[in-house]
Amino acid sequence: MPFLYIISMTTKTMKLNPKQINDLKKRYQSFPMRTDIPYAHFQVRLEGVTITAYESGKVVFQGLDAEVYANLYGDVSLPSKSSSDKKVQSLPDTGDMAGSDEVGTGDYFGPITVCAAVVTTQTRKDLPVQAIKDSKELTDETIRELAPQIMEIIPYSLLVLDNKKYNTIQKQNNMNAIKAKLHNKAYLNLEAKNLLPEICVIDQFAQDTLYYRYLENEPQIFKRLTFEMKAENKYLAVACAAIIARNAFLEAMDQLSNFYDMEFPKGAGKHVDTFGVQFVKKYGKDALNTVAKVHFANTERILNDAKD
Ligand code: MN
Repeated sequence: MPFLYIISMTTKTMKLNPKQINDLKKRYQSFPMRTDIPYAHFQVRLEGVTITAYESGKVVFQGLDAEVYANLYGDVSLPSKSSSDKKVQSLPDTGDMAGSDEVGTGDYFGPITVCAAVVTTQTRKDLPVQAIKDSKELTDETIRELAPQIMEIIPYSLLVLDNKKYNTIQKQNNMNAIKAKLHNKAYLNLEAKNLLPEICVIDQFAQDTLYYRYLENEPQIFKRLTFEMKAENKYLAVACAAIIARNAFLEAMDQLSNFYDMEFPKGAGKHVDTFGVQFVKKYGKDALNTVAKVHFANTERILNDAKD
């Protein structure tokens, strides 16, 4: 396509993945760059174009040569919506990347588990890449098989917040604040070991500004995060983190089931209430504090039904 010079400001917007944004930043690092633009990673001013890369992944090219510069990225921009379609065969190679995800936040029983994991071009070769996809599509059985393999190959930080501790903390923190603090801790653990690559993607559960507000009073905040929705079916690192977190959740549920000699159900639906009533009748209502997230509405229903 011939270059078309229009004597006016042109604007081209596209969505780039974290690696592409990082490449873009590196490529133009010798040009005047600003990092104080709200919601933006950076803004760089070249002759004929100003490029602003937002935390959402949106990149805006503005200026006489917007079209020209944008076209350099046109063919590599992220495929749109359809890429998050169910059947992901294998996740694209995104180079060195860390990713994080959490499990158990929608389950009445059991802990919250958070994992941050690092995949490099090197370790990718050893991972069962074809088998790893969005962990929500994998059966518990597959998760239990895959997780130990993955955990032997890549570095990760896994945090398990048990119910007793959760119920204490929850009095002062909402669920998202708890998640934010756990993700933050997981990244700090990896950073302390110097294991984090430049790109770190969190499976987004809250706006980035909100996420960092939850961490305001933390002694240390890991700030190099890229927030992305549905990241676990886009990036291998996030998918691995999700699998490790879910495996830890399953193991914790096994432990509860063994200890109480009752098969603890997942989720927070009617079947969970039914089980809860049996549990309370056997172990008393105070025992809920050690096995459940007691602020869930299930507690009231269970305690009501257990009276009869
Ligand atoms: Mn998630």
